[in-house]
Amino acid sequence: MAEQDYYDILGVSKDASEKDIKRAYRRLAAKYHPDVNHEPGAEEKFKKINEAYETLSDSQKRAQYDQFGSAGPQGAASQGFGGFGGGQAYSNFGGGFDDIFSQFFGGGGRARRDPTAPRQGRDLQYAMTLDFMDAVFGKTTTIKYDRDAECKTCHGTGAKPGKSPITCPRCHGAGVITSVRQTPLGNMQTQTTCPECNGTGKIIKPEDRCDTCHGAGHVHERHELEVKVPAGVDDGQQMRLQHQGDAGENGGPAGDLYIVFRVTPSREFRRDGSTIYVDRDISFAQAALGDEVKVKTVHGDVNLKIPAGTQSETNFRLRGKGVPHLNGNGNGDEHVTVHVKTPKSLNKRQREAMLAFAAASGEDVKGVKKTVLDKLRDAFEDK
Ligand code: ZN
Ligand code: ZN
Repeated sequence: MAEQDYYDILGVSKDASEKDIKRAYRRLAAKYHPDVNHEPGAEEKFKKINEAYETLSDSQKRAQYDQFGSAGPQGAASQGFGGFGGGQAYSNFGGGFDDIFSQFFGGGGRARRDPTAPRQGRDLQYAMTLDFMDAVFGKTTTIKYDRDAECKTCHGTGAKPGKSPITCPRCHGAGVITSVRQTPLGNMQTQTTCPECNGTGKIIKPEDRCDTCHGAGHVHERHELEVKVPAGVDDGQQMRLQHQGDAGENGGPAGDLYIVFRVTPSREFRRDGSTIYVDRDISFAQAALGDEVKVKTVHGDVNLKIPAGTQSETNFRLRGKGVPHLNGNGNGDEHVTVHVKTPKSLNKRQREAMLAFAAASGEDVKGVKKTVLDKLRDAFEDK
């Protein structure tokens, strides 16, 4: 809803004197008073006239209105004042050329924010370490963390039940304090945020402060939260839990909680997204003759057929034996790389069989007896 300009409501110009404003108000108030005017909308108009007069008849409120377009910080947010840039020094000439009226916003550097506007609370971050398998299959766990929560005694008002904040006696509810300084260029008027009420225009009397939060409106608490970690989360990923962060201010929503996952690596599985990689050693005989071997997957052991004549480093794919997709739509695959292992040492029978195998292949393999040093070296390599 667009606010109508107070000067327009009273039908006076921007440089109207106090007397002009009073005269205009009297005339209009008499015309639209609900006791005398029964036209539809008259009462609404009467209220507007009073609202306009209340502001323009008070020199401080009027100055504020001229600058901000509202009588106080209270109404500023709804009128789109929030976007006002920071660090600007404003000056205009009011009431004559020798009277410089300048105003500095937010003490320079920072944008002036409406302290009474609803504000979302801070977002929080929580680092959660997950076992490899818990990341794969998800789990439900309870976490504990510190956060600012709305005080349950006063529901964020900071006042004792039955008590409420009063208009700040220092700034009379304006939220700002105006001071005038004499300078060689004329009177310099500056506005600073009221230190008594921090710009809110309201304070709670010490004796009316909520016993639980001592007037803060929020309390620091150790919060417990049950978290459902979905299947398929990966290292470095984060999950947002809406409104589980710090409490908001002035009725604003709480911030969010971001859980960042740290997944501990597995000794058995390598993971890339939803794909799992494993290695499987097979013997020369298994590779040559073919076999069925057990292979570890995150879903348990499965049988893998090794065809006859399999070469070392051959990859096999086990469909659907990888990590569940985060969206709940099936699983990734597991890739198995087989490594054909040459026997490190042969007993007498194995040696004879190998020589016979070579002979049957038409090879003339002489064979070399292992030295003690070779055996020692083998022993170290095994480690
Ligand atoms: Zn104040
Ligand atoms: Zn409280």
